Amino acid sequence: MKTELYFDNAATTRTAAEAAEAILDMLTIHYGNPSSLHYKGLEAQTRMDKARRQVSGLLGCQPERLTFTSGATEANNLVIFGAAAARKRQGSQIITTAFEHSSVLEPCRQLEKEGFEIIWIKPDPNGRIHAEDIIEAVTEKTVLISCMMVNNELGTILPIEEIVKGVRRKKKDVFVHTDAVQALGKLPFRLSRLDVDAVSISAHKIHGPKGIGALYLREGSRILPRTFGGEQEKRLRPGTENSAYIVGFGAACELMQKNSGVYMEQIRQCNLRLRELLAENSGVVFHSPEDALPSVLNISIPGIRSEIMLHFLEQKGICVSSGSACSKGAKSHALAALGLSDLEIDSALRISFSHENTLEQVEILSNAVEEGQRTLLSQRRKGKL
Ligand code: PMP
Repeated sequence: MKTELYFDNAATTRTAAEAAEAILDMLTIHYGNPSSLHYKGLEAQTRMDKARRQVSGLLGCQPERLTFTSGATEANNLVIFGAAAARKRQGSQIITTAFEHSSVLEPCRQLEKEGFEIIWIKPDPNGRIHAEDIIEAVTEKTVLISCMMVNNELGTILPIEEIVKGVRRKKKDVFVHTDAVQALGKLPFRLSRLDVDAVSISAHKIHGPKGIGALYLREGSRILPRTFGGEQEKRLRPGTENSAYIVGFGAACELMQKNSGVYMEQIRQCNLRLRELLAENSGVVFHSPEDALPSVLNISIPGIRSEIMLHFLEQKGICVSSGSACSKGAKSHALAALGLSDLEIDSALRISFSHENTLEQVEILSNAVEEGQRTLLSQRRKGKL
């Protein structure tokens, strides 16, 4: 059997054993409907309450400020459509960045069709968003700003604190949302200092299960619901709660809160070593800025299409990504927003780390990239590719 070398942790992570065990317990023992009035319902409700405290503990908010969703895609949709609908009469301008995740981009595109004006702020060629570009774009008509905390393809850290401060000075009541999926547990931030209205998070990027996430909403920050039905999640997200995955999410958050420092140090060392090794290879172009979050490293090997290299590495048991997993091989809009050439975009690889990666694995990856480069370029020269 091939050794598994998993470097696609920005797409998803392995579910921690503690989270998986908690999920199994909920599915097979505490399986009651949390809304039921009997003891089985109470068992589930109590465990869900604990999970809400664990998730809010990691995020740094009051537990009742969280609404559990099926993931960050749903949280992003809920907040963007819900905030825009609640403010339709106040203005029709929305500001976002050109390299948001598709679950922010697409709702914004949809709102554009419905009459909203969307201002797309572009990153500079180094992948950085400048706070002043967003602040300058704010007008009397601006009702919503959605700006991610860490970019999922590059690891770029966006200056959210500076953005919010500047925006509030210009127009106090703009609704500000941040997609913190790639930041949670990896980039220390204090929600109380950030002064944002809403934050989206997802469990499966921090060793929790797929299909569960949450939206933080500040007290008094109103959005309209998008689905209607039961009383669950304060009617903002009706439907029987996914109590098992909520509890799994809670367990993953508790682990992250305990170990984040150690995890990030391992990730930082892996990233640093890989950068060192790849820097010796003149055929490699780095796209992630040096001050990016170390969990993501985006590179190109011009001349070798991403998919070709991806499958070469895969034969050795190595998993990397050719871009965001959600775009399934489509050209990366994030890299295009940087103004990179088609040659660089078509050959981009995203390597993303977790604390489970080791320096030994990094050496294997670097050697495999070099071998791939030699083999594939020579095949191309011979007209075989
Ligand atoms: N936002 C960002 C920045 C992401 O990286 C992802 C996951 N690729 C999402 C949102 C969507 O999260 P989920 O998979 O939980 O829907």
